[in-house]
Amino acid sequence: MLAARYLAGYPLELIAQAEQLRLDGRLADHLARRLPERHEVRSDAALFDYVQAFKARHLRNAGPLNYVGFDAKLRVLQQALGTHTRRTQVQGARLKTRREIRVATLFREAPAALLRMIVVHELAHLRELDHNKAFYQLCQHMEPEYFQLEFDLRLYLMNLEHPASDAVEQGAA
Ligand SMILES: [Zn+2]
Repeated sequence: MLAARYLAGYPLELIAQAEQLRLDGRLADHLARRLPERHEVRSDAALFDYVQAFKARHLRNAGPLNYVGFDAKLRVLQQALGTHTRRTQVQGARLKTRREIRVATLFREAPAALLRMIVVHELAHLRELDHNKAFYQLCQHMEPEYFQLEFDLRLYLMNLEHPASDAVEQGAA
């Protein structure tokens, strides 16, 4: 099941529901309904301002950011979200010491709520390297809908990388 790869660690029932949405070709509509709002953050400069505003509100004393930018090479599922449990120490240590926020380029076109969610995720890593309890508490503090939005992001990535036309073909086969 394709959904199992995007939703590793989630309850099987949710994975099965997501897979069914995909196979029915309804995933894109589902996401458009859930996440209708767009955003205008297109450049690294705009992203910097966006991140800075969040940081000023929630993580004022985390130290200045050295770099904020979109990154076309970043693989969201494997590198940003990890396996829903932890990220590698090497990656975390680098981010911590250099205070960099890199956001995958696909978020330029993603719904506003998903950009907000990934920025919250990366900002929380300024405090917590691992995807531990404190990390997710911080994410939730910055964005009360964090868990729902991370789930939505996983669906969004699945839909982006395996659009409905694939699913319908597979479903018909
Ligand atoms: Zn992470």
